[in-house]
Amino acid sequence: MPQRPGASLHAGVALRELDEEEVLAQVLPLLPADPDAVVGPGDDAAVVITGTRIVTTTDTVVLGRDWRDDWSSGADVGHKVVTQNLADVAAMGGRPTGVLLTLVADPAVGLDWVLDHAGGVGEACRAAGVGVLGGDLSSAPPGVVMVSVTALGALPGDPVLRSGARPGDVVAIHGSLGLAAAGLRLLEAGTPERHAKAVARQRRPHSPLAAGPQAAAAGASAMLDISDGLLRDGRRIARASGTVLDLDPGRLQSDVDALAPALGRAAAQACVLRGGEEHSLLATFPGRMPPGWRAIGVVRAAATGQAPGVLLGGRPCEVGGWDHFRQSR
Ligand SMILES: [Mg+2]
Repeated sequence: MPQRPGASLHAGVALRELDEEEVLAQVLPLLPADPDAVVGPGDDAAVVITGTRIVTTTDTVVLGRDWRDDWSSGADVGHKVVTQNLADVAAMGGRPTGVLLTLVADPAVGLDWVLDHAGGVGEACRAAGVGVLGGDLSSAPPGVVMVSVTALGALPGDPVLRSGARPGDVVAIHGSLGLAAAGLRLLEAGTPERHAKAVARQRRPHSPLAAGPQAAAAGASAMLDISDGLLRDGRRIARASGTVLDLDPGRLQSDVDALAPALGRAAAQACVLRGGEEHSLLATFPGRMPPGWRAIGVVRAAATGQAPGVLLGGRPCEVGGWDHFRQSR
């Protein structure tokens, strides 16, 4: 298997051999500043000026639970935790403006891993045009490494909630389906060469961040990012809205076709329908969709006695997807 690039977790000088100031002196130059911050990293807290509503969210990744050191580099982990947070801001209709970063690590972790990680955080933030406002560095018991990001975003209009889908709305997706889950399956099978793009997407997810505010401006009635699978996340919109999302399997065929040669058809279909960590945006529109979105279904009223949920081609389906506490897929 091609080794992931970047320092492994315990290579080189360990954090325990340095003090916090020495670590921060090397980490901070890797992180982009927020040009609009009145006070950035280095004081007790950051200060920003805002003229709009602020969206804020937080998300954490844990070694051994959300990533494996032999599959993902520190930089990959940085990309992933930033992207999943910024995707949540975009999914509300917000434009990400800044992040706060917390690293909690076993002191045996190497400085090189931390710098690689900070480099990945910096790269993902720069790509999204957001600065790092501040953060925290803390030590943990042996074996524990955890990264948490809190993101801020500006919300020019009303937030797009999960509860706004109405019968007759079009269900639409912006971005890919199933790639990140396919990459995970290939890493698990030890055959990452079968679909390099899927494996790259598992390591570094991509979210169409600009599409969130565009969808909001175009009147999207509900929106979220696909973090736990199309069917499971679709059901979240359906339940919050008290509606049924009826997805058209024919509209998902190209996604399945793209993965089938590497995975086989059944697994490809499972990834498209139930694969998490994709961070594409799923929304419902009462009118015309903005460019870049594609229709994959319609919102229907729940029939008498029918629970709100997701249908596939008019039929009930096994939702599956990722559940953190049941730890099942
Ligand atoms: Mg989300």
